[in-house]
Amino acid sequence: MRRIVDTSEALANQVSDDRGSDNEILQWLARAPDQTACSVDKLRVLGVPRPIGSQSEDVIAISATDGIVPDVVAFTGMGTISEMRASLPSSLAAIVPVIGAIDRDGHANRWPVDIALEGSGEKALVRALSEARDFIARMRSLPEHVLFSSDPKLTLLARLAVRDRGAAPRRTAMCAETFTYPDAAALPELTTAAEELAERGLLERRFFDVVTSCPGCRSGRLSVRELCGSCGSANVAEEAIIHHYRCAREAAEREFRSGTALVCPKCRLHLEHFGVDYDKPGIVIACRECNHMSSEASVGYVCLECGSAGSTELTEARFIWAYHLSPTGLTHAFSGQTITDDDRARTSRLQRFVEHQTKGGRTFCVLAAKLQPSSKGQQSSRRWEETCRLFARLLREVFISEVEIIERPPLYVALLAGERPEDVRKALPEIREAIEPHLAIGPRLDLAVYGSDDFLQIVTSR
Ligand SMILES: [Zn+2]
Ligand SMILES: [Zn+2]
Ligand SMILES: [Zn+2]
Repeated sequence: MRRIVDTSEALANQVSDDRGSDNEILQWLARAPDQTACSVDKLRVLGVPRPIGSQSEDVIAISATDGIVPDVVAFTGMGTISEMRASLPSSLAAIVPVIGAIDRDGHANRWPVDIALEGSGEKALVRALSEARDFIARMRSLPEHVLFSSDPKLTLLARLAVRDRGAAPRRTAMCAETFTYPDAAALPELTTAAEELAERGLLERRFFDVVTSCPGCRSGRLSVRELCGSCGSANVAEEAIIHHYRCAREAAEREFRSGTALVCPKCRLHLEHFGVDYDKPGIVIACRECNHMSSEASVGYVCLECGSAGSTELTEARFIWAYHLSPTGLTHAFSGQTITDDDRARTSRLQRFVEHQTKGGRTFCVLAAKLQPSSKGQQSSRRWEETCRLFARLLREVFISEVEIIERPPLYVALLAGERPEDVRKALPEIREAIEPHLAIGPRLDLAVYGSDDFLQIVTSR
């Protein structure tokens, strides 16, 4: 039985101040009455906004004020975002599976439902709860602190892990991007978090579509149409070209038109029979404003958002991704490890090292090793990640265990206190020899050594 009160200490260590959610969670904790725990095998169903009226022995109907971690949420009202936000801390709300009526009209203020509640009454609820069984089992196997993490990356990972799926986008005319992730209603930071998880290999990006976007405001809501290549007017139309056999004149049909007859503008003869007097070898784009004709129209856009207009060549092609949950991501969610940030932390380790050594007037250098794919596609192959891990291990074996190595696959930086750069440079062939033969897929290995002189500028400019 998971009670919020039991976890307050873990929480205090866990929550950080970057999302402002620790307050939210502490407030929620404060609501929790110190009451007797209920049995483990019963389902804790949180009714939002009101408790459910279930008579079932297997179900405990809890309310938002109980401060108990629910196994599942059942909507007893409209299922709006604000009802959900008022009932649970935002991270927990984003993770717990939700039973409710499916909103087929796609209202913007609705919280995404995971399991459809078909009909009303006890039977419908029991059916939905049994459908939610796997979700609930996965929800229960998440480490407690994950439910209250202040890191949207971990929240997203847990949300997807409970549902055993990725985050797929959906087309919509309701927003400027023309795409939306339904999961973003539960987790507004979704896109940023998903990108960061993809960078770390915990989610996998897959191509979904491309949006042609306004270069000014990035909106995808553009009106696109053909334009006159001369005056830029959209008042253009296709016209047939007529070819008069007799005098070889070729011109747009309108130049031949004389009432209902066709008269050659060059030789003034009447054209009677298609295939005998003339034919139509093609079409031309004719401008009704300036009479300009050309074989191809240019294509222009008008942005419905900001009003900017121009050739579609100026627009941007923006890739829309579906994010799939990788096996590593799934494992990570249930392990409850924090998703280690970030470039800043890594950079500051290097910075601290350099500053420390410089201040002490000690000899030091830094070895940067970068793995590069030797062929296209190698980096996206599954063996690439494996190769990086193996490389990191081999590199660690090259040095004594005290040497700190900063890892940012495929870049690795060894901090070498007491070593002179020229000595390490001399040893590079040896280092290479100790590593390269073991890397089966044969990636390129770039090694570079930086001494204190290289860092002098960085340190003094700070
Ligand atoms: Zn024109
Ligand atoms: Zn003619
Ligand atoms: Zn625009």
